[in-house]
Amino acid sequence: MTEPGLTLRELDQRLVTDLKGVGEKRTAALAKIEIRTVLDLLFTYPRKYLDRTRQATINELPVGEEAMLLVEVTKVSARRTRNGRSLVEVAVTDGTGSLSLTFFNQGWREQQLSPGDELVVFGRLDQYQGRPQMTSPIVDLVGNRTGRVVPVYPQSETAGVHTWELDTMIGEALRRVMMVKGFSDPVPSDVRARYRFVDRSTAINQIHHPESMAQVAEARRRLVFDELLRIQLELVQRKVALEQSAKGIAHQVGGSLVTAFHDNLGFDLTGAQLRVIQEINADLKEPRPMHRLLQGDVGSGKTVVAVSALLAAVQGGHQGALMAPTEVLAGQHYLGIAALLRNMTVPDPATLLGERPLQVDLLTGSTPAAERRRITVGLATGGVDVIIGTHALIQESVAFVSLGMVVVDEQHRFGVEQRAALREKNSDDSVPDVLVMTATPIPRTAAMTVYGDLDVSVLDEMPPGRTPITTEWVKEEAPAWDAVRREVAAGHQVYVVCPLIEESDALEVRSAEETLTRLQETELEGLSIELLHGRFSSDEKKAAMAAFRAGETSVLVATTVIEVGVDVPNATVMVILDADRFGIAQLHQLRGRVGRGAAESFCYLVGEATTPDGEERLRALVRTTDGFELAEVDLDLRGEGTIMGQRQKGRNDLRLASLRRDREWVEAAREVAINLVGDGTGLKNHPELADEISVFLGDEETDYLFRS
Ligand code: ADP
Ligand code: MG
Repeated sequence: MTEPGLTLRELDQRLVTDLKGVGEKRTAALAKIEIRTVLDLLFTYPRKYLDRTRQATINELPVGEEAMLLVEVTKVSARRTRNGRSLVEVAVTDGTGSLSLTFFNQGWREQQLSPGDELVVFGRLDQYQGRPQMTSPIVDLVGNRTGRVVPVYPQSETAGVHTWELDTMIGEALRRVMMVKGFSDPVPSDVRARYRFVDRSTAINQIHHPESMAQVAEARRRLVFDELLRIQLELVQRKVALEQSAKGIAHQVGGSLVTAFHDNLGFDLTGAQLRVIQEINADLKEPRPMHRLLQGDVGSGKTVVAVSALLAAVQGGHQGALMAPTEVLAGQHYLGIAALLRNMTVPDPATLLGERPLQVDLLTGSTPAAERRRITVGLATGGVDVIIGTHALIQESVAFVSLGMVVVDEQHRFGVEQRAALREKNSDDSVPDVLVMTATPIPRTAAMTVYGDLDVSVLDEMPPGRTPITTEWVKEEAPAWDAVRREVAAGHQVYVVCPLIEESDALEVRSAEETLTRLQETELEGLSIELLHGRFSSDEKKAAMAAFRAGETSVLVATTVIEVGVDVPNATVMVILDADRFGIAQLHQLRGRVGRGAAESFCYLVGEATTPDGEERLRALVRTTDGFELAEVDLDLRGEGTIMGQRQKGRNDLRLASLRRDREWVEAAREVAINLVGDGTGLKNHPELADEISVFLGDEETDYLFRS
């Protein structure tokens, strides 16, 4: 069980002012970098370490090489150069030799550094007038530290807090804690034993004052796990609580309606579709509400899965709703789904034949008033079985007889408020099952963290018979236009995506207009070309899309408004100009607009790469069309910040853990969390763990985490 020791809560109640040598001025400086309590201080981890035994030395460092050196200041002098710049020269030595550090226009270095200071410097060794020198190296003041491995903390020049000061204060805090009773360790001992973790006292001491880099690794492992475990415990509890608190609907799965739908599709479901439908059915027949994320690449056939779920609800006399993020997409879904459900009937004892046609409708902001009245009456009385629309469907005062299944397309944020809105839809307080669909794959472990309060199903198999899309990265435009002319001559259609200009909408529109004019007058002269961009009104957008869908337009020149959901199987070429400006996910989505029919399709990524990351992105796109593989590359390139997105706001507990580097630990933490709290009894037996979760994810943040 839990050993006695100081809890993180207790450390969070101790202010840094309690520490020796921390007066008002320091307290204020620390507050600027969000360090207020002893806990904040101890959880400020070294940014890097300096291993004295493996340190480069001045005498052995070749000129032209970059290196990190541990040196002592012997002399500081400042002067002005002939052209008036300030120049601070700092003579340093490391016992094997000496060199000069020169800083231009950093006059404050004269105050910062004095003889006897120990510094870690990182820079390139040059030679000036035959003497070794580093120009404007990165400098960390480490103070007078002994020990083989020296921690280097994230110092803040603006707050005036230096790495050696942090080191001293942290040393003092550690000494005090260890003198009293050490750190309490609330992680169950069987878990610690299973992963061979060091205890928390050892981990916190070693992360700050390691004797070897191996100790750093050992400490890091443990602390990373703790961070991830806290998050997973919260997410899993959240998930279980939702399942238990709400009254759901036990649907009849495997009814004739769904079977008839599958039989009439004209193709066999893929293995992945069958598996995911089964996963969903297992949830649907339980009397607790489902809350599931369906991840599937563009074209993987999510619609069929979604409609199967909607029909399972309709089979039992309930209604289904599908929400899309925009009117255009809602309209498109409506066309597709109405076609899939044509000629289907539902039981209706009130009619002579005992059945009537299944009724599907579209409700958006631009539905005419009379139509709208008919539909809302139908929803309230049961005449409408499946409704498709925008998010407004569940937010407005639209009443249902019995809403049984809600599919949310591309809606990444679906939280507590939406759920509350859903609860009000049904007079008997029952909550419909929810399936959230996304075509933006994210790596599994990232999904576990970002969507940890949802179950996740993955469509990881493409329907057969797709001709793969050939992707080419071309520095010049010419080959792309050749392909465009060739494909249009063969009766196909083409998208041209204009350069992304994040800084300005207006500039982006202008550039799109210029591209259109240029193509009309030169490279694509004579073809029927139309424009589509974000400044179009919704009617204009609809008209442009309709013309393209009808084949009246051969080439659609567009900004990224076409990114999601547009489905024109006759389109076989996607040309993306200045492709290196787009992110991987965006490029992948754009490319997914072609390759939707039987004909071979092509994607041209045009332009030079202007950054190494840009080059990596384009290469990845050429190499694979697998969205999950691309998501992994994206995570590698961008780090987890972007995936966590807004969830990183507030007091973030992920200090050491990286969703990228620590994938295995995300899974381990999830598994442990499920073992501990998956049964819904909560952390009754682990009150200290419960308490430290609220210290880190404070009530506000916890709310925020789950509302977003
Ligand atoms: P997503 O929404 O996942 O991008 P869709 O559901 O729109 O994909 O499906 C893309 C296309 O593939 C549609 O034309 C659909 O009819 C077709 N499709 C779906 N499932 C299969 C399957 N099992 N076999 C053949 N074609 C399929
Ligand atoms: Mg779709």
